[in-house]
Amino acid sequence: TATVETRKFEAEVAQVLHLVTHSLYSHKEIFLRELISNASDACDKLRFEAIANPELLVGAGELHIDVSWDKAARTVTIHDTGIGMSREDVVANIGTIASSGTRRFLEAMSGEQKADARLIGQFGVGFYSAFVVADRVTVLTRHAGAAPEAGVKWESDGRGEYSLEDVTLPERGTTVVLHLKADEDEFLDGWKLRSLVRKYSDHVAFPIRMPKDAAVPAEDGAEAKTDAAPEWETVNDASALWTKSKSDISDEDYQSFYKSLGHDFNDALAWTHNRVEGSQSFTTLLYLPSQPPFDLMMGGRDERKGLKLYIKRVFIMDAAEELLPNYLRFVRGVVDADDLPLNVSREILQHNRQLDRIKGACVKRVLDLIEKLARDEPEKFATFYKAFGNTLKEGIVEDPSNRERIAKLLRFASTKGDGAAQTVSLDDYVGRMPVGQDAIWYITADGYKAAAGSPQLEAFRAKDIEVLLMFDRIDEWMLGSLHEYAGKSLKNVAKGELPLDAADKAKQEEAATAAAPLVERIKRLLGERVGDVRVSARLTDSPSCLALADYEMAPHLARLLREAGQ
Ligand code: ADP
Ligand code: MG
Repeated sequence: TATVETRKFEAEVAQVLHLVTHSLYSHKEIFLRELISNASDACDKLRFEAIANPELLVGAGELHIDVSWDKAARTVTIHDTGIGMSREDVVANIGTIASSGTRRFLEAMSGEQKADARLIGQFGVGFYSAFVVADRVTVLTRHAGAAPEAGVKWESDGRGEYSLEDVTLPERGTTVVLHLKADEDEFLDGWKLRSLVRKYSDHVAFPIRMPKDAAVPAEDGAEAKTDAAPEWETVNDASALWTKSKSDISDEDYQSFYKSLGHDFNDALAWTHNRVEGSQSFTTLLYLPSQPPFDLMMGGRDERKGLKLYIKRVFIMDAAEELLPNYLRFVRGVVDADDLPLNVSREILQHNRQLDRIKGACVKRVLDLIEKLARDEPEKFATFYKAFGNTLKEGIVEDPSNRERIAKLLRFASTKGDGAAQTVSLDDYVGRMPVGQDAIWYITADGYKAAAGSPQLEAFRAKDIEVLLMFDRIDEWMLGSLHEYAGKSLKNVAKGELPLDAADKAKQEEAATAAAPLVERIKRLLGERVGDVRVSARLTDSPSCLALADYEMAPHLARLLREAGQ
């Protein structure tokens, strides 16, 4: 007698569904990981809410996730005893695109960019991956704490419409039933499903259970019968990896845990895992990705792609902003604190002394790790720098207390380097400085060619003085906060006085006197258009160049600001 309501997907959902089902086709097995990850999130949420409201946990037993299949019905089912959804939740979370990340994804995908699985993995479009293997998906769900009659049944073929129905469900939590497409029989197999759980979801911190021995053939060669109430066994590791001791964790464990954090299909580049004991104890497991997320520079940070804060193994929230400065927003991982109050809110976190200390420790660990790569693993460091060097530069401005450490990690092109390759460190530069040179010289420009070809460099070349070539958009801004390194001041070749010796000075004065009438004439001709006209020692081949007074902005920065409407 229940009424079934039919609704249309939001236009964007239909688009996402289309993109996901078409571009994930070659990675279709990840549907299982995505649905298990949602089930795990739901268990996390319930455990968190139960801190304030323990009766939410009554019934349905321990938090767990069950994966099962039915050959006859051709279904695969993922069931969890997590937070569940109300009718409004279902509409908001599954019928609509709630996350701004998904909108950005759509905008990005509608451009030149071809939809590819790696990119899709970075955006929260997980649920819809069910439709890669299923032509009908049924969701049965009941919010924790709601009455049995408050259950909801959602169903769709993923083509544009879904139905909603009020149902009675004996337990809280969510069951997702996938009605497999005709050619997806491979997933109706216990061994296959089990190996996928182990491959992708071993590090989910809740038990993932499957019917026991169901994949083992009976003695007569027929498949073992699954009786009405199958015996379940846990198939994943189900432990919080970061709580184990380092010596018990293999590189593969670290990598698969990294992937279980979500949003990256690739291996991590490096990681650092530390336990701090003392008046305040905490564990950090921090990863450097090997590739920048698609929106690193564009949209700033996505809170959900950074650090997860746990308190005594209970997931509290995504707290990248509270635990890492913005210039380290590419770092992913887990922080588990022993001493924070479990009922923390974001507001409390923002003004918490203990958390400030943890944040300081995270920054230190990450910089240690990057330094180690720079020292011991140049290839990995190069990969890191290519992906995140420009983001790291923001730290010169944002984090004065670590300025010297960050500056040490920067790499530039140079007149004594290898073309446009950004491989010269400030230490390299200082190490090659001849006695008597007291400044680190640089030039900023729009691009490598403009920098390397600038007439400003002629005198420096003639005198064999190295000049760093800076041409990333962020450099000029960064240099506003980087005035010296290792006791040497950084100087723009377009500003300030050239380093001249006595003989040079005499020659220059002589030339200046000789050219005085010419200078007067040029001044008269150019009038207001220039601040001054001077005889210069900067040039050897070109007859003239534009120079800046010390307080003036570099021309390409001035142009940038003008373009930005400043
Ligand atoms: P994401 O997990 O990145 O938010 P998904 O498409 O995987 O994106 O899921 C969309 C939303 O649907 C989730 O954020 C959650 O609110 C809801 N949801 C999905 N699966 C479950 C589940 N098993 N239990 C409770 N809520 C769920
Ligand atoms: Mg998800």
